[in-house]
Amino acid sequence: MPRKTRQVDIGGVKVGGGGPVVVQSMTNTDTADPAATALQVKALADAGSEVVRVTVNNKHAAAAVPELFERLADLGCTVPIVGDFHYNGHILLRDFPRAAALLSKYRINPGNVGTSRRDENFQSIVRIAVENGKAIRIGVNWGSLDQRLLTQMMDENGRRENPKDAGDVLRDCIVESATRSADLAGETGLGADRIVLSAKVSGVRDLILVYRQLAPLTEYPLHLGLTEAGMGSKGIVATAAALSPLLLDGIGDTIRVSLTPRPGGDRTEEVRVAQQILQSLEIRSFEPQVTACPGCGRTTSTFFQEMTEDIQGHIRERMPEWRRIYPGVEDLKVAVMGCVVNGPGESKHADLGISLPGTFEEPKAPVYVDGAHYRTLKGDGIVEEFKEILGDYVARRYSAAVSAGGAARPFVTRGRGRTRLHARPSGIARLARFPRQER
Ligand code: SF4
Repeated sequence: MPRKTRQVDIGGVKVGGGGPVVVQSMTNTDTADPAATALQVKALADAGSEVVRVTVNNKHAAAAVPELFERLADLGCTVPIVGDFHYNGHILLRDFPRAAALLSKYRINPGNVGTSRRDENFQSIVRIAVENGKAIRIGVNWGSLDQRLLTQMMDENGRRENPKDAGDVLRDCIVESATRSADLAGETGLGADRIVLSAKVSGVRDLILVYRQLAPLTEYPLHLGLTEAGMGSKGIVATAAALSPLLLDGIGDTIRVSLTPRPGGDRTEEVRVAQQILQSLEIRSFEPQVTACPGCGRTTSTFFQEMTEDIQGHIRERMPEWRRIYPGVEDLKVAVMGCVVNGPGESKHADLGISLPGTFEEPKAPVYVDGAHYRTLKGDGIVEEFKEILGDYVARRYSAAVSAGGAARPFVTRGRGRTRLHARPSGIARLARFPRQER
């Protein structure tokens, strides 16, 4: 069950309130270079990021925000932009009112808004958000916790008869910093529908514990992410391990995957990983899923891996168009399997599946459509023929979904013991297109 939260509008994107979990990301360009930043924002948005954050770390970056927006408009990119502020946010937002007006949300880290004038600086930012009708994310990060609060809570713990573990106090402090700051923002005039909270740490277990502690204390939407997740498979696995249990518990209204790209690497990977986490958990669908077996000694050629990669690439290439003209196509499931052991079974569970021949098996590849054997492919043109069947299937199934008002599974019914191709009245055209054949 999703956690009950308020809904916050971030430049037209709704976060919380039972809406879909929003995918967001952050640029790593210098915001003072609006040309480079605009291109990266556009790439992230095109990859599926629904909100993009840029750092606004100095006056050059703040001064570049209007040009960034102009360039994004020229590129036809309307994704909401969040400004990430630390230390001098109160000064930059005051001195660059145009930036304050253009950004859809301000992110403030309550540990990085000063020491002696911490509350005053924090409230200055909140007042500017109120004047501009903007939302704020209060983003606590354990690497930059409010030291005054941490010291106070550690001291109090030390005076207890049975002191808590230092890790427990640290987590308490993260939660306390987030909730106290939200209270202060509310007292300063920021509406409850303009506050998002996050409490990021870099340890998987700690992240799960912190969010489970924070979630029942507040109705503000939660931004979820494992901070400094790392590079490559380490970062992907750690993020998925941390976010999955929380998302399955209904905790998390927007997510960001903080991957470290390789030098010159593709920043959009973090968007695809975020989408894949949500799709694997069946929380949202973004693109058709290709199920493939890992391969083993039963399939010693590389054909099956190459075909899987080819089909995945083909789907990804087609998706911008398919998404536009075939609503619901992102739910499609395709299976590419390496041999007869699990091939037919897995293929039947998919919407469309192919079971390739393993070593020493007869060189033929049965294709299954909606769980029923449809055709058997042979020879050198298997991949191209399968792509053709895939294209036809998508066109038939999801075009019909447009006219019928939703995607259907019109090809088969599953009887006891076997699956049969048949035509329902609405599916006659499809059946004509997909007669059962042998080649
Ligand atoms: S389906 Fe066949 S090739 Fe693939 S992992 Fe299973 S046994 Fe191996």
